[in-house]
Amino acid sequence: MSLMERLDRLFEELRSANEDSLGYPAAKDFDYSEIERFMAFPINNIGDPFAQGTYRVHTRECEREVVAFFAAATRAPQDDWWGYVTNGGTEGNLYGLYLARELHPDGIVYYSEATHYSVAKNLHFLGMRHITIRSQSNGEIDYDDLLETLKIHRDRPPIIFANIGTTMTEARDDIGRIAAMMDRMAIRERYIHSDAALAGGYAAYLEPRPAWDFADGADSVAISGHKFLGAPIPCGIVIARKHNVQRIARTIDYIGSLDTTITGSRSGFSPLMLWYRLQQLGESGLRERLARSLANAQYLVERLVGIGVPAWRNPNAITVVLPRVSPELQRRWQLATAGDISHVLVLPNVGREQIDAFVAELATSREKEDACKA
Ligand SMILES: *Cc1c(COP(=O)(O)O)cnc(C)c1O
Repeated sequence: MSLMERLDRLFEELRSANEDSLGYPAAKDFDYSEIERFMAFPINNIGDPFAQGTYRVHTRECEREVVAFFAAATRAPQDDWWGYVTNGGTEGNLYGLYLARELHPDGIVYYSEATHYSVAKNLHFLGMRHITIRSQSNGEIDYDDLLETLKIHRDRPPIIFANIGTTMTEARDDIGRIAAMMDRMAIRERYIHSDAALAGGYAAYLEPRPAWDFADGADSVAISGHKFLGAPIPCGIVIARKHNVQRIARTIDYIGSLDTTITGSRSGFSPLMLWYRLQQLGESGLRERLARSLANAQYLVERLVGIGVPAWRNPNAITVVLPRVSPELQRRWQLATAGDISHVLVLPNVGREQIDAFVAELATSREKEDACKA
């Protein structure tokens, strides 16, 4: 097979696979053709996005604007925020935990059992002590269990790893409630990280607004760029309180910049992509895509309930949870499945036609199962 034939075949495979995926949080309604030409440069945003560097083939200005956009969306304190464009939510979470560890070397990390699988790995890298807290049935952290556990370890600063949209059910831990709980216990030395990988792309526009950001008590927030916003390359944003970051920054002569980020070389294309995306959509575009997703998520729940499937979603979630579907349907629609539940991500690209097609197939598959049982 020639190189061209191999490329064509791969392209066709991806095109077809992309069409039917409903179970992973990757929005597909994007068009970056206008910035394809920037692939001609070895762009590298090495170092701190807010510091000067010696290498001039970079997109730091775009990066700063992207971070500023999300600093506003997360209500970061004026003149006291800092951040950068990451490789994705996992790196943002690693950064938040790293910062927390440097500030509170003897802290204990608390996170719910519904936390993303990558977090345990991050904690292992960082060698941080951690305690798993029970989840409620909707996926939200069990506040009573958290309170009881905090009481037992009063001598160590708590580092709360909160989920703003758990992976399976998009449950949101209430950071305001957790902060108030620690206030009541007179715990001043503490840290809260907000893992808003999926919901960080729209949480600012939800009504009522979930308690997830800096004004609610978070000290850092991580968001994935390729989830709700949509991008062909995984990316994300992390934002933290600047005075905390300054305590751990080091100047490096070789790059003529500050070594404040996790990796050395960093993509310069991802910041450009996110910047371009935000320019195209603006806040109104994001709000419109959110409204569409919420309406379609509700439509999917109603359609599923209509055929007798006990589907549900958390309030204002675009994730629809249903009892584990057959392996054939899991494969066919690429549905993430854990334990006894599967889920559908109703992203802005998911339309009613696709929802109807999915519901029809699920109905047929259930009829077949019932026929077998009878
Ligand atoms: C997707 C996700 C992550 C990981 O983000 P990546 O961008 O895939 O690295 C972390 N936490 C939650 C809740 C997620 O949904």
